[in-house]
Amino acid sequence: MIAQRNPTGPARTGASEAARNRADDVVDVDPLLLPADDPDATARMSPEDYDWYTAAGLDKNDEAELRDEHFQAEHSALALVLRADQLEVAVVAGHGEVIARQVSARIDGLWDDPAAAMGELRERVAEVLHAIDVIDPLRLAGIGVAVDGQVNARTGDVSFTTADQPELPIALRDMLNEEFAVAADQSAERIRLLSTGAAVGAAEHWRGAAVGRPNALILQLDDTIEGALVLDGELLTGPTGNAGRIGHISVDPYGPECRCGGRGCLQAIAGGAAIVDWAIGHGSARKPTAHRSPGPGATVRPAAAAGAGGAARELLPHADVLGVAAAARRGDPVALATFRRAGEAIGQALAGAVTLLDLDVVVLAGALAGVGPVLFDPIADGYECYAALPYASGPRIIPAVLGADAASIGAAAGLLARGCVPQRPS
Ligand SMILES: [Zn+2]
Repeated sequence: MIAQRNPTGPARTGASEAARNRADDVVDVDPLLLPADDPDATARMSPEDYDWYTAAGLDKNDEAELRDEHFQAEHSALALVLRADQLEVAVVAGHGEVIARQVSARIDGLWDDPAAAMGELRERVAEVLHAIDVIDPLRLAGIGVAVDGQVNARTGDVSFTTADQPELPIALRDMLNEEFAVAADQSAERIRLLSTGAAVGAAEHWRGAAVGRPNALILQLDDTIEGALVLDGELLTGPTGNAGRIGHISVDPYGPECRCGGRGCLQAIAGGAAIVDWAIGHGSARKPTAHRSPGPGATVRPAAAAGAGGAARELLPHADVLGVAAAARRGDPVALATFRRAGEAIGQALAGAVTLLDLDVVVLAGALAGVGPVLFDPIADGYECYAALPYASGPRIIPAVLGADAASIGAAAGLLARGCVPQRPS
């Protein structure tokens, strides 16, 4: 999605203009917009700003005249969504609007050299801030960071989720403090670190499908399965920032091994990659095998609607899971059995969560949430089968509404939204 693009010259884009171009919610910016190095710029920089301005090749004195008077930087937040092979940078305004956003190309081995990754991030941040005429990221309310992997909110270390074994932890918070010249004692105020699952949950609770629902579970169904819990109106992160990680709860003691080291994890059965593996492993020409007795009243509707396929492709561009979903909608028996197996497993996990926590609503986000009834019907059947107690029998299971912006909005939520502030690590 490209709302604005200026590949030829140094024209500036005001935030109010950006806001008017919100048809696609995105301002895509080009690296060529950065001004050339100013040999006098260094002399005008204060020492604490030296690294940032030099690195970005920018002149601090430009900022006052460039900043749109209607744009309140101090009421906006920089959002960084960091994945194993991709960087997403956005600026989120005070009511949750994404006013500029840039998603990098996929970069294999991005974090193999953390310093090089930070250099890449520095460029992306400079471009996005330039698009809204802000130079110093510390003019914003703070920096919200969502990491696609394991986070340790106590230490600030993260490990990115990859297709292989978990990677060595990276001291991300220390690196961000240094990159953005944030003093260590200010770090907890200025930099908020979440998992992407928690960020998506925070976003859907703040501005999405779970607004007004004080007790919610928000599932993010992609190649991985993440979750976030909102209890009594507050995002629950847990002491290390990993609360809600429902993808690694086992739903089948005899199920496949999970890359986390467990067995029968929900993600190993119902994650996008697992769905593709299972469908391929069982061959599209073969008849479906009954893997689990269907829940009461289980039905399959192969002529389902397409759902949010466009958004899903953006979120999950390299997997074939949407192809499996399309085959299921055409009535392919193996594809249907694959989604039935996955959906019932998700329903079983949801039943456990709602029975434990007495939730108002369950929100399904991520690419798989867009595939429609081929997944939603088995989820409902699995849920009914395992949610036995009366109070757990009637929660609403609804699709998310924020799409590809959710992780950015949620990363910023803790800095901008009251009632959605992640608990501080103890
Ligand atoms: Zn697992």
